[in-house]
Amino acid sequence: MMRLELVRGDITKQCADAIVNAANTSLLGGGGVDGAIHRAAGPKLLEECQDLGGCPTGEAKLTRGYNLPAKFVIHTPGPIWRGGASHEDELLASCYTSCLSLAVENGCKTVAFPSISTGVYHFPLDRAAAIAVGAIWSFLETDGTLERVRIVCFDDTTLAAYNKALSAVGRG
Ligand code: ADP
Repeated sequence: MMRLELVRGDITKQCADAIVNAANTSLLGGGGVDGAIHRAAGPKLLEECQDLGGCPTGEAKLTRGYNLPAKFVIHTPGPIWRGGASHEDELLASCYTSCLSLAVENGCKTVAFPSISTGVYHFPLDRAAAIAVGAIWSFLETDGTLERVRIVCFDDTTLAAYNKALSAVGRG
């Protein structure tokens, strides 16, 4: 059974133990999916984030989910695309792996991700999708505790890119 699935939707509506926030390094809120998560979670999320002291790109920090259906939010700043020679690929893979490690450490069985870095951070979509699917797939190969990892794509273009990446990794 495939433990990695793709859906089109809104990550703030996901029933999962943890949802991932494509944050910035301040962890103090922003636009895009970050803004949507803070609006849906309510002001207590920002209060908790203010005590975290930010987060380096490629790493992850966990908070409660407050008014969200998800129990936890895992905040990870993705890399800003600077042309590909600034460790963007490794940093993006590290976002996914760091979030999954933190989820497992906190007993999560289900995790939902947005498409990290492909919005205002302008990471090329096909390249980001291949890295995301590859990193999650590799993690699941060594982990026996996660039951379901879902990538929540906000639009059809994003969903198509992740579908293509998943069929490539599924073929081996
Ligand atoms: P980044 O700064 O990491 O590029 P963005 O929030 O700008 O993050 O965009 C990342 C992805 O999240 C984009 O594909 C964007 O369309 C998508 N997105 C925006 N709002 C939501 C949402 N509510 N649920 C899921 N994905 C969303």
